[in-house]
Amino acid sequence: MSENISVLGLGLMGTALAESLLAAGHQVTVWNRTPAKAEPLLARGAKQAATPEEAVAASPLVIVCLLDYPSVTSTLAGTPLPGRVVANLTTGRPAEARELAAWVAERGGEYLDGGIMAVPQMIARPGALILYSGSQPAFDRHEGALSAMAEARFTGTDPGMAPLLDLAMLTGMYGQIAGLLEAAALVRSAGYPLTEFVSSLLVPWLNAMAAQQPLWAEKMASGDHSTEVSNLEINRAGVENLVRAFREQGVKPDLLLPLKAVIDQRTARGLGHEGLSGLIEEL
Ligand code: NDP
Repeated sequence: MSENISVLGLGLMGTALAESLLAAGHQVTVWNRTPAKAEPLLARGAKQAATPEEAVAASPLVIVCLLDYPSVTSTLAGTPLPGRVVANLTTGRPAEARELAAWVAERGGEYLDGGIMAVPQMIARPGALILYSGSQPAFDRHEGALSAMAEARFTGTDPGMAPLLDLAMLTGMYGQIAGLLEAAALVRSAGYPLTEFVSSLLVPWLNAMAAQQPLWAEKMASGDHSTEVSNLEINRAGVENLVRAFREQGVKPDLLLPLKAVIDQRTARGLGHEGLSGLIEEL
């Protein structure tokens, strides 16, 4: 069903979102601080609002995708929001989302926060996911339209939940990047072909290890850190060995050292018989 939807913010991401809504047949009104960025969308049937107020007045669903949360409040300041759902897809922190939800409620609107797990090129394609939290009735009313941009998953009524999960997923990604960087530096130091190492050795290994992660999650959720795989004492020796090998090879193990510190802390408490999942208790 075609809906009236407004999109505030036509950067790389906002433009991709607006394009996907137009492609799905919605009536899209756009606003951007720099109006010229709307031109390609106008050619595809979007309407341009001269002000944020005009954009908000045009549609019950207002998608906002700006630089940061302060730019969202400065853009919406002075705009009445009764009868409007503000779906803010700007990246931010959980505390900012909760604050903005209250700010929107004070102005009479309903709030959804969204964490975009995609780059602009992935929008409206398989694999793109947007996590939502905040007003469940607002999500239920607009789920169809939101699904035109990416798989839309509601994660809870705490507005901070979607940005928290977004940050958690990014944390997993940065952890993987840290491992990739250290492994690559070690391999390059020995003159082994790096691209071959990554594609034929590292990635298949990481995929196999990733399959174990739900089992780790069960351990962490239950607090039962017993192990039949490898205990912390073995891992302490293993990471110590890694660090020494890096230094002998002339490579800095700086991204591994924080992990080593937490393993050392846990084993120093006499918990070396536990599995690696026990490290969550130190965090
Ligand atoms: P861009 O830099 O391409 O666009 C930024 C947008 O914010 C522009 O529309 C810009 O307007 C607007 N803006 C900046 N400051 C203000 C302000 N003070 N008042 C009003 N508007 C302002 O960024 P993206 O589109 O890539 O990112 C937008 C959001 O989406 C960010 O929060 C980002 O983290 C998130 N995101 C982006 C992803 C990506 O891969 N690009 C992935 C996941 C999330 P103007 O055109 O006038 O400068």
